[in-house]
Amino acid sequence: MDKPPPSLKVCPVCGGDRFINESVLWPELVEQWELSPDEVAYIDLQQGFCCSSCKNNLRAMTLAAAVTSAFGFSGTFEDFCRSHPGIRQLTVIEINPAGNLSPFLRLLPKYELHSFPQLDMRRMHFADASIDLIVHSDTLEHVAGSMVALEESRRVLKPGGHLFYTVPIVVGRLTRTRRGLPPSYHGTPGVNREDCIVQTEYGADFWREILEAGFHWVTLTSLIFPASVAIHAIKT
Ligand SMILES: [Zn+2]
Repeated sequence: MDKPPPSLKVCPVCGGDRFINESVLWPELVEQWELSPDEVAYIDLQQGFCCSSCKNNLRAMTLAAAVTSAFGFSGTFEDFCRSHPGIRQLTVIEINPAGNLSPFLRLLPKYELHSFPQLDMRRMHFADASIDLIVHSDTLEHVAGSMVALEESRRVLKPGGHLFYTVPIVVGRLTRTRRGLPPSYHGTPGVNREDCIVQTEYGADFWREILEAGFHWVTLTSLIFPASVAIHAIKT
């Protein structure tokens, strides 16, 4: 596919209007995840539909759109990071590179990139109420104790602080833990890194966890449903 689907004319990150679409799932993962052909198609779109210019995939583009819209900014994510005074004064933490958003987030004066699992998302070293904005993409499903990680994000966020994230979601079923199931890995086929092991396969009830973690104000952004959903939670 070299044309964007109708709902996505330009890349919300860089404004590019050329896209590429690659299949990224592999048979072993499809089998472990028990995905139907429809589910394979939309998850491939989520992970493999990319802007030709900035190389961000659909989930990263959705995350970027969620951030800019939360701040009422109608331009690209790049312009937002370069010029929006509201974001440029904030303490921003990215946990693992969220797609290819790091080159843009790096434009922010008070930005830090941290790596999971070196940064234990369940026990972070940040002080209470010290961070304005946390962003991560397709990392939480690898954390054993994902709700504890969300509670921990809530602890370190300032009142009014923002958490933006994505997880892969299979919308036609409920969330399941992979505890007791054979190990399944994301990342690269055949490269079974421990931090790529999947702990949670998110389903239609993915929203429970963020509310159970104590966030009261949660909004969703989808550029192409059900291929992409970004979650935005505000600490009240
Ligand atoms: Zn782009």
